[in-house]
Amino acid sequence: MAQEVKVRAFFGNLYLSYQPLLKAGALLSVNGLVVMAGESKAVEGACKALSGCEEVDLPGRAAGPGFIDSHLHLTGLGLQLNTLDLRSVRSIAELRDKVRAFLQERNPPVLIARGWDHERMAERRFVTRFDVDDLVPDRPAVLVRICGHVGTLNTYAMRQLGIDRLRGSPDVVVDERGELTGVMREDVLLKALRALEPPPEQYMSYVADAARLLLSQGVTTVGFMNVPLRLLTGLLSEARRMMLRMRLYLDVGALGLLEGLGLEGGFGNEWVKVMGVKVFADGSLGARTALLSEPYEDAPGERGKQNLSVEELSNIMSRASRLGLDVAVHAIGDGALDVFLAARAASGADARVEHASVVRDDQLPRLRGVRVSVQPMFVIEDRGWLKGRLGARRLGLAYRFRSIVASGAIVGLSTDAPVEPTDPWLTVYAAVTRGQGEGCELAKVTPEERLTVPEALHLYTAGSAAVLKDPLIGSLTPGHLADVAVFSQDPLEVSEPADLRTIRNVATFVGGERAF
Ligand SMILES: [Zn+2]
Repeated sequence: MAQEVKVRAFFGNLYLSYQPLLKAGALLSVNGLVVMAGESKAVEGACKALSGCEEVDLPGRAAGPGFIDSHLHLTGLGLQLNTLDLRSVRSIAELRDKVRAFLQERNPPVLIARGWDHERMAERRFVTRFDVDDLVPDRPAVLVRICGHVGTLNTYAMRQLGIDRLRGSPDVVVDERGELTGVMREDVLLKALRALEPPPEQYMSYVADAARLLLSQGVTTVGFMNVPLRLLTGLLSEARRMMLRMRLYLDVGALGLLEGLGLEGGFGNEWVKVMGVKVFADGSLGARTALLSEPYEDAPGERGKQNLSVEELSNIMSRASRLGLDVAVHAIGDGALDVFLAARAASGADARVEHASVVRDDQLPRLRGVRVSVQPMFVIEDRGWLKGRLGARRLGLAYRFRSIVASGAIVGLSTDAPVEPTDPWLTVYAAVTRGQGEGCELAKVTPEERLTVPEALHLYTAGSAAVLKDPLIGSLTPGHLADVAVFSQDPLEVSEPADLRTIRNVATFVGGERAF
């Protein structure tokens, strides 16, 4: 039987690529691949000449290649979307209203809620199981306090987990009558959360929720970090149905398994592909665990945490490289970047670096040809404490997007979601303004590191594609996949950078098919 051929002509104000800036009035796709782009008259003529060609008038004011978020966590994002947010509640009654509404709307097999803060609630006491048992009598519920160190289980969850056995532990709170209140602390809470973790089928539906959100925002491909091994089979079979392209990075612990399978060069297709593994070279600036070459300004003597020696990291890179697999290395501090660069040189492997938040001048030339994924939203989110950690002298070494690009590095943008929100226009806004409107000191100290709108859009499409080593995405010139995001405004025509945040994604096509 002959395979069905899908021919589509798309008409609109199209950006085929941002660097070089190429525009077209229309493009023609055959089976999801762009085969022609140019004047609408010419494409219309070609469409008329081909039988079965379908004409699509794009809504919105402009369109471009779908966004590529080169580093995020789909499971974490999906979990966040399915977690009841209690940060705004100011009383037990409000909390109960939220729980009731969430159960009605979502009907989750396990109720997971986060963010209540008794300091901001009228009752000024911890939430107990007696506050929610009548609302959630038939399934486990856990309501975690804003700090993450305290949480409340309902009676159902306590029975299921056998919490009674732990009576007497300081982490299991009882009231004045000696009755268990459902309030758990620290280890007991963490174990309970792990035990209540949804089964893989449930996680797949969370991933699907995350995929839907991303597609609604014009993101068509993601670099999916720390993929849980138990989801691998599901993802390989479901990504196409979800219509989001996924490039998978497993935890480094899976490297042995991949070696055992002997699968070379990763495996998958244009929808979903195993890229390699992800490994942590250090921690975070917020927690002062990012590895700096000199001590933290606000913690003299502390330089952060080195997770791996150069030798260990270079060994991982060599093993992955022998299988044709990629290694994504989380390196936030300049000390961790030193470890990364030394390991990369020693192994000769083409590993990529995640974050590169603090970069010294002497490191810039060594970034030539290195793939780097950066998160512009960090500029705005970290503004409250960044100077405290680094001090005035080193502040200018943070988030040097333009310098990193100028060094000859291959740069892609990302959100690290659920750490930052997934809306690409927030990230573009942050890259272009450097948080000037939010009073970020970085905007004043290093205004030269701001990107232009076309530069940011280029890095978010073609740049991210190069970080993911994917020649088929990130552009709409012929030979690329017809992944198209359609915008409410023309991003190159906005008069004020602040307006970038008001751009909405109005339609998304992946492989020429409508995905939003
Ligand atoms: Zn991450």
